[in-house]
Amino acid sequence: MNVLSLTGICRSYDQGGTRVDALRGVDLAVAEGEAVAIMGPSGSGKSTLLGIMGCLEPATSGSYLLAGQDVSQLLPAALADLRGRFLGFVFQSFNLLPRLTALENVELPLLYARMPVRQRRQAARDMLAAVGLADRMDHLPSQLSGGQQQRVAIARALVNRPRLILADEPTGALDTATGREILSLLRQVNARGTALVVVTHDPAIAAQLDRCIHLRDGRVVPAGFPPVEDAPMPADGHGATAMA
Ligand code: ADP
Ligand code: MG
Repeated sequence: MNVLSLTGICRSYDQGGTRVDALRGVDLAVAEGEAVAIMGPSGSGKSTLLGIMGCLEPATSGSYLLAGQDVSQLLPAALADLRGRFLGFVFQSFNLLPRLTALENVELPLLYARMPVRQRRQAARDMLAAVGLADRMDHLPSQLSGGQQQRVAIARALVNRPRLILADEPTGALDTATGREILSLLRQVNARGTALVVVTHDPAIAAQLDRCIHLRDGRVVPAGFPPVEDAPMPADGHGATAMA
């Protein structure tokens, strides 16, 4: 069973009267429990793809099944509910609320899910302890290092027990050693069965996941084609010739 399945996904933006095709027909399925890296040069459509996977924005055309459900057919409330139960998000810039403590930040998704206060406080405590922050629960984000803030963000993403974590350059704002720790934490989560999609610029990170997808100009680079950033793309339908 796939956690998600994208078929022929296109996404265009209007930039001051000019059409920008950020995604031009992406087909991609992610299996239950799989860990997938997405690489590609800046502007190739990685964040747009993650935004569509996360139901943060709609595709212009194509079909998107999340947990077997056609996202375009869901009413807003049902979509928000599916997103809340099924997905966790991790961003490069952590995206914690600055006036809330670590504990309150992690509690937030459970508040939205209407979990009673004592239960959600305990779940948030347990999750912060699991990411190694048992002694930092009452700190504000500004009182934490970048790596600690990202751990809080991961705890927040996990507290709803999602089936899929979407991470957009989760180590992009961290030094190499801290980035490794964060990746190791994400891999532990994945080892317990949560599927993982990670956008990254770091080939060392991509190499640790099950599979790597390369995007260029809004398309998936065909398997076997050199993933070198400036390698020529095969002309449509002539991939085999170009690879010879
Ligand atoms: P990446 O994450 O790979 O750097 P993005 O998905 O952010 O790439 O962007 C892909 C393309 O879509 C770029 O040309 C970008 O300028 C354009 N784009 C992304 N988001 C928007 C937006 N909200 N409005 C207009 N253009 C956008
Ligand atoms: Mg991006």
